[in-house]
Amino acid sequence: MSDNVLKVSGLKVAYGGIKAVKGIDLEVNQGELIALIGANGAGKTTTLKAITGTLPPCKVDGTISYKGESLKGTKSFHLVEKKLAMVPEGRGVFTRMTIVENLMMGAYTRNDKAGIAADIAKWFDVFPRLKERAQQLAGTLSGGEQQMLAMARALMCHPDLLLLDEPSMGLSPIMVEKIFEVIRNVSQQGITILLVEQNAKLALQAAHRGYVMDSGNITMTGNARDMLDDPRVKAAYLGE
Ligand code: ATP
Repeated sequence: MSDNVLKVSGLKVAYGGIKAVKGIDLEVNQGELIALIGANGAGKTTTLKAITGTLPPCKVDGTISYKGESLKGTKSFHLVEKKLAMVPEGRGVFTRMTIVENLMMGAYTRNDKAGIAADIAKWFDVFPRLKERAQQLAGTLSGGEQQMLAMARALMCHPDLLLLDEPSMGLSPIMVEKIFEVIRNVSQQGITILLVEQNAKLALQAAHRGYVMDSGNITMTGNARDMLDDPRVKAAYLGE
């Protein structure tokens, strides 16, 4: 059996006449943290949306297999049952629910009450800021706190694959550091992660492997450490 958790082959996405993704191949193996980096409009979010089946009417070609099965036709609300969790750009927390209620929503496919309570306690240890604010409405949290909550909520379903779309977006440098610390912590727990990021440096520093996306194509892939040292990556994405 292959240790691919996710295998994307020949993926093409067109919004009307705009070819946003032009036939990409990408693999995420068990336990890996993969960084997908690239400039604005490169097609990174579109790739994640194709994986999770959340695109507006548009043309999608190619195959996406998750744990050896095609995801074609899977409605996005069934993904959590398949243990595929996504934290979208903009976080998507339930603003009128408390932190604890948001976390319970992340566990809606489970009925092991004691396990759910234990997981909430576990993620409160990882995110003490959420613990301090357990009964606060999510809509009143700062951007960084909402990002933490969105990640903790996604982790409540014990995902076999966690998709993160621009977790550092709009956060202060200190909060970005904190979020990356948590991403590394989650990865060290063995959770497989596909991370889309514009902060190429932090993403590649945290990742095992990376992919560079440019104008709908994957233009480079390799070991994340090697990519950090690659002059082309340095010039185009690390501002060096
Ligand atoms: P960013 O980092 O800015 O989010 P990205 O790499 O995630 O960029 P996408 O959001 O995937 O890029 O966009 C890829 C291309 O597809 C862009 O040219 C964008 O304008 C276009 N696009 C995205 N969503 C739509 C849509 N709903 N309708 C039409 N075009 C779209």
